[in-house]
Amino acid sequence: MNKIRNVIIIGSGPAGYTAGLYAARGMLNPLMFSGYASGGQLMLTNDVENFPGYPKGINGPEMMMELRQQAERFNCEIVDKNVDSVDFSSRPFKVIVAGEEFQSRSIILCTGAEAIWLDAENEEAQKGRGISTCATCDGAFFKDEEVLVIGGGDSAMEEATFLTRFASKVTILHRRDIFKASSIMYKRAASNPKIEIKPFSQIKKWISNEQGLIGAVLEDPRNNSIEEIKATGAFIAIGHKPMTEFLNNQIEIDHEGYILHKEHTMTSVSGVFAAGDVVDTRYRQAITAAGMGCQAAIDCERWLEDNAQ
Ligand SMILES: Cc1cc2nc3c(=O)[nH]c(=O)nc-3n(C[C@H](O)[C@H](O)[C@H](O)COP(=O)(O)OP(=O)(O)OC[C@H]3O[C@@H](n4cnc5c(N)ncnc54)[C@H](O)[C@@H]3O)c2cc1C
Repeated sequence: MNKIRNVIIIGSGPAGYTAGLYAARGMLNPLMFSGYASGGQLMLTNDVENFPGYPKGINGPEMMMELRQQAERFNCEIVDKNVDSVDFSSRPFKVIVAGEEFQSRSIILCTGAEAIWLDAENEEAQKGRGISTCATCDGAFFKDEEVLVIGGGDSAMEEATFLTRFASKVTILHRRDIFKASSIMYKRAASNPKIEIKPFSQIKKWISNEQGLIGAVLEDPRNNSIEEIKATGAFIAIGHKPMTEFLNNQIEIDHEGYILHKEHTMTSVSGVFAAGDVVDTRYRQAITAAGMGCQAAIDCERWLEDNAQ
């Protein structure tokens, strides 16, 4: 395994597996480190209804297992370990995994961006059972139901407005009365008759029964007073954290840590490519991540042809 590889893929969500599939079919013999969360974010969800090819929908972990098997069928070598650090200062690039060094002519980064959760009481048990971080993905499951959106930025306003297509009522909860959202996004949400905005409300605890979420206990941070709110769905929209810390600023990232593309899917380091949510602040979908994984693998193949070492 310790020969110089053509390409090492870091991350095993839809972007990583698709990059692995294309690189393997392109005879690059890719090595993939799947990371601490093999399969990526879709391992946290039961129903994926918007990935083409599954007319009846599919369970997230099952879908990711199928993507993995498809990449492995063409001999993408997958190691279920986390990459601790990288050295992009010279070629071949170096990738450090549990103290061991791996070398590669090129790299495809597919490490995703984790949604930030509240970590309120009972949250872990309700993830994917009423509590979500993606309205585009899960909004349609809440037709004619009452839902909550937590957050005070543009994403929260956008998610809430989108959810009014399905939900009978959307309540935006924010811990302060100052909103980071732009005034146009705030006004759009505030003027929607289906949306109520409730400042000074933070989630203390999620309430559930066997069917799933039924509400939340709210606390007013000004005086610690408590009230209950009913809802069968909740969307946490307080931001995402791109998984780029381990790169130690060796490639250009934006102020939030998202990787910047310089030429197609190539980053600021020639021979290092990136795909999926780790570069995407806008779409954050499995299909867009998979599509970009394909692009990165094709860009990488072409780069290797022009930069044979
Ligand atoms: C609850 C939930 C439900 C969703 N539902 C849908 C849906 O129905 N439809 C849809 O299209 N999208 C959905 N999404 C969004 C979708 O999951 C993401 O857009 C997609 O997974 C992004 O793919 P990715 O490959 O870029 O990254 P991810 O899926 O986030 O995968 C990142 C990978 O990188 C790995 N990694 C990170 N750091 C390292 C490291 N240092 N070393 C090695 N590996 C590392 C992780 O282990 C993981 O395998 C949902 C998201 C969530 C959270």
